[in-house]
Order: sequence, then C-alpha cells, then structure tokens
Amino acid sequence: MSGPARKAAVTGYPVAQSRSPLVHGYWLKKHGLEGEYGKIEVSPETAEDFFANFSASGLVGANVTVPHKEVAAAACDQLDDAATTMGAANTLWLDEAGRLCGANTDGIGFLGNLDQLAPGWDALPGTAVVLGAGGAARAIVWALLSRKFTKVHIVNRTFKKAKKIADEFGSRTIAHNWDKLRTLLGETDLLVNTTSLGMTGKSPLEIDLSALPQETLVTDIVYVPLETDLLKQAGERGNQTVDGLGMLLHQAVPGFEKWFGVRPEVDDELRALILKDLGVEP
Ligand code: NAP
Repeated sequence: MSGPARKAAVTGYPVAQSRSPLVHGYWLKKHGLEGEYGKIEVSPETAEDFFANFSASGLVGANVTVPHKEVAAAACDQLDDAATTMGAANTLWLDEAGRLCGANTDGIGFLGNLDQLAPGWDALPGTAVVLGAGGAARAIVWALLSRKFTKVHIVNRTFKKAKKIADEFGSRTIAHNWDKLRTLLGETDLLVNTTSLGMTGKSPLEIDLSALPQETLVTDIVYVPLETDLLKQAGERGNQTVDGLGMLLHQAVPGFEKWFGVRPEVDDELRALILKDLGVEP
C-alpha cells in the first residue's frame, strides 16, 4: 500500500479512555508501517452526520465505541453477519468503491482469545453457560452459536433481558434466572462470565462451582483484575481458565488488517503493554 499514510481512529463519546490507539500503535510500529491511528470524539448530536459522511473524514476506517455502534451500523452500505445480527458495528472501513462497510468483532475477539489460549476448546461443541445478558453477552452468544454449540444457557439477574437474547437467537439458546445456575453448572462444557461482577470497583461475583465438572473451561471477559475471583476459584479446583484481556486485543485484529493490509498478532509484548497501561498485575 503506497501513497499518503493511511489513517484510522477510534470514534465514540468519550474516547479518552480507549486503549485502541495503544494497540494499533504497537502493531504499526512492529510492522514498520506508515499509518496513523488516533482518537476522534464524536458527540451524539453529530454522530449521524459523521458516519453518513464518513468518506469525508479522511479516514480509511475506524473503530466505534459507545454510544455510536448502532448509528454507525445504520450508516453502513454493507455489514458482516455479526453486525447485521446485533444491529451494531465496532469496526468500519471504506471498500475500493468508497462504500462504508461495518463489522462487529467482539464475538470474533472472544473466539480468537480462546483459540489462542485454549486450542481445541471447541473441538466437541456442547453446552455453554453465559452469565449476563448485556451487550457483550449478545456478541458471545452469537460467537458460540457460530461454533455450533448445541445449547447456550443465558443466566441473568434480569430475566427478561436474557429472554430477549434467547428469543432472538432461537431454540439453541435458553434464558434462566440466577437460581437455576447450580443445576446448569453440573452439565456445562464452558462457563463464561460476561457480567461486570468481579471487576475492580464492582460487586464480587458470588458463585458456587462445586457442581462444575473438572473438564469445564472457565473464562471471564472482565480483565481488571486479570485473574478475577472466578478464574482463581476455578483454577484452584483444577479447571482450565482463560482471562479476558485477549478478547479486547483480538477484537482489534480484523480492523487493523482491513486498514493497513497486514494481519497482526496478539503477542506477549502487546499484552504486557496494555496491562502496564491499565495498571494491572500480570
Ligand atoms: P452491560 O451491557 O452493561 O451488561 C452488564 C451485565 O452485568 C448485565 O447482564 C447485568 O445484569 C450484569 N450485572 C451488573 N451488575 C450486576 C449485579 N450487581 N448483579 C448481577 N448482575 C449484574 O455491559 P457489557 O457491555 O455487556 O459488559 C459487561 C462486562 O464485560 C464489563 O465489565 C465490560 O468491561 C466487560 N467487557 C469486556 C470485553 C473484553 O474485550 N474483554 C468486551 C466487552 C465488555 P442486569 O441485566 O440484570 O442488569
């Protein structure tokens, strides 16, 4: 790719907290590329115009963070399967004809993390228990169904939110109240926490894992702290565990490849860089 440096950015409101510039800056440097990656704060009042006229921004593409993922998806001429399903896009690029394309890579990031840190985890797709029914849970349910899981149980404090996701995704997804958790844990191959419980500054995730089979893989998408109480408890009883930092990093891979033409890797140096910036103990 020659010509002027290709520019991409994270867009949202606010964007100051975003680690995306650090991630893409690391990859640009590692691959010796001329590109640039910045932050653009887009106010809610101007968001519709900004994404509708994206080609005038001078960017070849962008990440989209809260609260603009839905507005961005609506402005796209083309969406991938995940963004279509979720009605929300977190990665944008202009194709050769100048059309705005959008993807939702949260689910891809979740899968990429498990593929890297627990290879073969989906060899025998079976049953998953997903704790939580927010935005991240939706992306993860999509991801698990894309890997042919036969049952995905969604357990949430607010039942109607779990039910809404289960209804959207069809008969392989089932919504439950929290009081069904113990029974469900006895028969699951994968346990995923997508609630904000257990995150530094939030309430703890109180969970009894005694019914969980020892072969069950346990993952938490909360990554501050890196080893949440759930992962600690699961690890101590012999379950394989995967932390959530890799999801954050892997969701950035497809965008970088679209904008700068190189598929980057999530390596230990990148993990260490982000952990240091977050002030999190490795
Ligand atoms: P969200 O849409 O706000 O959903 C939050 C979820 O947590 C809901 O299911 C909510 O239940 C549940 N919850 C919150 N407080 C609770 C409590 N006191 N008791 C029981 N349940 C509670 O948030 P999200 O965007 O899905 O993100 C969820 C977490 O994932 C956040 O910590 C976020 O930082 C993390 N995350 C990580 C990555 C990554 O790349 N690793 C990506 C996205 C998100 P109700 O429905 O009952 O309110």
